[in-house]
Amino acid sequence: MRNYITEAVILKKYRIGEIHKGLRIFSREHGLMNVIAHGAYKMKNRFRIVTEPFIHSRMYIYYNPIKETNKLNDIELIDPFEKIRKSIVKYYTASLWAEFLMDTKAGGNEFSELFDLLVIALKILDNIEEEKSVLISLGFLIRMIHHMGFMARDIHCTVCDKKIDKGEDIFFSTRDASVRCRICKNTTDMKLSGESVSFLYSSMDLPLGRLIDETHEISSLFPLKRFVYVKLESLTDTVMNSIRSSGGIL
Ligand SMILES: [Zn+2]
Repeated sequence: MRNYITEAVILKKYRIGEIHKGLRIFSREHGLMNVIAHGAYKMKNRFRIVTEPFIHSRMYIYYNPIKETNKLNDIELIDPFEKIRKSIVKYYTASLWAEFLMDTKAGGNEFSELFDLLVIALKILDNIEEEKSVLISLGFLIRMIHHMGFMARDIHCTVCDKKIDKGEDIFFSTRDASVRCRICKNTTDMKLSGESVSFLYSSMDLPLGRLIDETHEISSLFPLKRFVYVKLESLTDTVMNSIRSSGGIL
C-alpha cells in the first residue's frame, strides 16, 4: 500500500529544514501519524494554506517504505474550520485537545469513533460564540477521557465507594482529581457543585451539541474546569503546555 487516501485532522505543524512542513495528523483509519508536505513553507506552494492546524481533509499520501515516511501528494478540504484559527481562545482550546490526543496516543486502538467525536467538537467550536468555547471544551475533554476508559460512567467516592448522583456535590483533590463525597472529603479538597456534577454526567451521556444547548451558567463551571485540567495532567503525567502558555485564556 504505497499510495493511499485517509481522512484526517491536522493536530500540529512543524518545520523540516527551511521549506518543508511536517504535520502531526489524526487519521480516521490509522490514528496518529506524521506526514510531510514538501515545500509547504514556500510562499507560492499549493499546500501552504491548506496544511494548517485543525483543518479537516482527505489526504492522498505516498508511503515510502525505504525511508518510512509519508508524503502528502494531494489534499481535498472537507472543512477548514477557519474561525478556530481566527480566535485566540478557540485556537488555544483546540490546541489543548490536540495536545491531550497526542500525549495519550489517541487512547489506543479505537480511532474512528474518537475521530468522529473530534470532528463534531471542532465543528461546534468553530461556530460557537467565543465566550461559550469553554462549554464545548470541557464537554469534549470529559467525553474523551471517558471514551479512553479513564473515567467510568458512574462516579464513586474513592474512600467509601458511595455512588454520586447527578446534582449532588462532590469534592476533589487538586493534586490528582480523585473525588470524595461530602462525608469523606479532605479539608484541602475543592468543591464541585451539583450543577457541575450534572454537566460531568451529561458530557458522558449526551450528544455534544445538546450539551451546549442545555447549559446556561458558564461561571458556575470554573471549578469543573480546574477538575478537568488536573485530571488531564494527572493522566498524562505531564504539564499541558497549551494551558500554561495560554496565559490564563484557557
Ligand atoms: Zn465517601
